[in-house]
Amino acid sequence: MKTALTIAGSDSGGGAGIQADLKAFSAHGVYGMSVITAVTAQNTQEVRSVQNIENSIIKDQMEAVFDDICVDAVKIGMLSSAKTAETVAASLQKYQPAFVVLDPVMVSKGGHHLLQLDAVSALKEKIIPMATLITPNIPEAEVLVMDTIHTPEDMMAACLAIAALGAKAVLLKGGHLHGDPNDLLFDGENFTWITGTRIHTKNTHGTGCTLSSAITANLANGASLIDSVQEAKKYITLAITHSLNLGKGYGPTNHFY
Ligand code: PLP
Repeated sequence: MKTALTIAGSDSGGGAGIQADLKAFSAHGVYGMSVITAVTAQNTQEVRSVQNIENSIIKDQMEAVFDDICVDAVKIGMLSSAKTAETVAASLQKYQPAFVVLDPVMVSKGGHHLLQLDAVSALKEKIIPMATLITPNIPEAEVLVMDTIHTPEDMMAACLAIAALGAKAVLLKGGHLHGDPNDLLFDGENFTWITGTRIHTKNTHGTGCTLSSAITANLANGASLIDSVQEAKKYITLAITHSLNLGKGYGPTNHFY
């Protein structure tokens, strides 16, 4: 059986973070493992509080997994602090996993900062250069490389600028722009548009986590990058279509099998 490791934050409401990642791995027939970077007290409405996990425990979790189990692919989500990003980067340098999919989580849908502002430079300098693929949404790409992204041409320029930070490939998600959610994949050489149709629902909590985990699972299962991304887009589209109206806020998309 193929395996995947998520390095991310816990969402007590079960809609995003580690919980979404492990469900997506299972849905793809991949054995999931986790390194927890932070615990969030969260539901479909809000993030109430965040406790970062001590760096020695993050390092120990990484070593416990990699020293014993073959890891076919890694997904990185919420890193929370600069120190956590540095700790994760050092462990990845040591173990050199074949695939690293980076979802550069910054702010929750409710507006809570999941990456401290002073951690952006650690993300750029230490983590992005190790990414096989980075999956920013438009606001994240604006923080990373450009002030404003509005047009398809802006998206192309942003992909090139993010690749210049050292990521081997970039999937820039267009869902925050008006119209249909068309994503742009740059694999280091070519651009491919991954088109979608807007689904009108408020139940989109954890979509970014679920998409990046589905890509990670597909890579672990041996699919090419383009197939991994295209299949994951189909998967998240179905997951949003069948999202749950749980809670009073943004319902989850990650129960889909
Ligand atoms: N909480 C955690 C722990 C996460 O990793 C993420 C990931 O993006 C979120 C919350 C954000 O979820 P969303 O913005 O989809 O509500």
